[in-house]
Amino acid sequence: MVTELVILAAVLAAVLLTVALVYVLPRRRRDAPPPRPGVDYVPGVGDDAGPPVDAPKRTVETVDLPEAPSAPSGEARPAEALPGELPPVEPGPVVERPAPAAGRLVRLRSRLARSQSALGQGLLTLLSRDRLDEDTWEEIEETLITADLGVGPSQELVERLRARTRVEGVADADDARRMLREELLALVDPSLDRSLRTQRHEGRPAVLLVVGVNGTGKTTTVGKLARVLVSEDRDVLLGAADTFRAAAADQLTTWGERVGVVTVRGAEGADPASVAYEAVRAGIEQEADVVVVDTAGRLQTKVGLMDELGKLKRVVEKHGPVDEVLLVLDATTGQNGLAQARVFAEVVAVTGLVLTKLDGTARGGIVVAVQRELGVPVKLVGLGEGADDLAPFDPEAFVDGILGD
Ligand code: GDP
Repeated sequence: MVTELVILAAVLAAVLLTVALVYVLPRRRRDAPPPRPGVDYVPGVGDDAGPPVDAPKRTVETVDLPEAPSAPSGEARPAEALPGELPPVEPGPVVERPAPAAGRLVRLRSRLARSQSALGQGLLTLLSRDRLDEDTWEEIEETLITADLGVGPSQELVERLRARTRVEGVADADDARRMLREELLALVDPSLDRSLRTQRHEGRPAVLLVVGVNGTGKTTTVGKLARVLVSEDRDVLLGAADTFRAAAADQLTTWGERVGVVTVRGAEGADPASVAYEAVRAGIEQEADVVVVDTAGRLQTKVGLMDELGKLKRVVEKHGPVDEVLLVLDATTGQNGLAQARVFAEVVAVTGLVLTKLDGTARGGIVVAVQRELGVPVKLVGLGEGADDLAPFDPEAFVDGILGD
């Protein structure tokens, strides 16, 4: 019995072995990829050096590739690096090259004409009347005072016009315009030196302090001024010494970056005098031509802060005398601006005035009033919020703007 079982098991094993040899193994071999010469075995003479071209290949699978960032139209794609080359340099932020500021007021004159038309046209209409009686002269004087010319200069102008019309007469509107133009120009005083002292000294840059009450457009003016100087090929450095207003330093840094100018700044609440000092020191080290310092613009009634401005100037002057102290006044604030001007002038010796927002007021007379008040010329005027809306003051273009074309 046992013998029969052993024989049966042996027969079964033989049958299974035969089946495996005949069917399963050959199929496995057929399914398996053929051995690859050079990979699975060292190729011998007569063998291919690599897998034959008709060897089974991987199937092609369609996969979703991540979308390539599309370059904005019109912009060149950065070149790809070739093997062995350094990766391409990403282009840095574009540095603007502002247009030169000379003659800018002539180009911006239309802005004056728009805001000052009440003054210029009003005066011309009055002067062109057939009869220049007492009432008309009074109206002329009122128009001038309303335009912030100040009482003294207004009366002066009326007196001069009265005298001239008596002697010369006014034939027509053109005549009136010519006479008014001459007299307004004389009041604005074309003989004043309005140039900005921005020439570098031996071993140190020119230093400009920009002072004024908050909101007058002081920081904006520093930014615009940097552009004017860059357009004249000056190496400029900015000092953000308005450390009271958190956003002022950021605002100034952005202005500077646009024209490739570095801004020296301190921590929020840092001592403005030390920031200003550091800015000038950096300007000396970097051999800059001009350092423009934006100062803290607190209300002039806060005696402490005004003292601080005096201190700032004294500290900065350890490097050498300051070349310009520019007082920024908002033309729309009228007589209040004059009061500010007086207080600032007591603390620091103001060398030039910047009248901002002349585009938004019919009170162009403030130019004359404030010059008279401080005995200091208006050197720059702001005629809009645009980056290049700061113009060197040009008396002729200004008067022409007031009178309209
Ligand atoms: P800051 O506090 O004195 O530094 O004043 P900012 O420089 O921040 O300016 C205050 C506001 O006045 C901003 O909105 C400026 O854009 C605006 N501003 C400055 N100058 C002019 C100008 O000439 N014309 C007009 N329309 N706005 C101006």
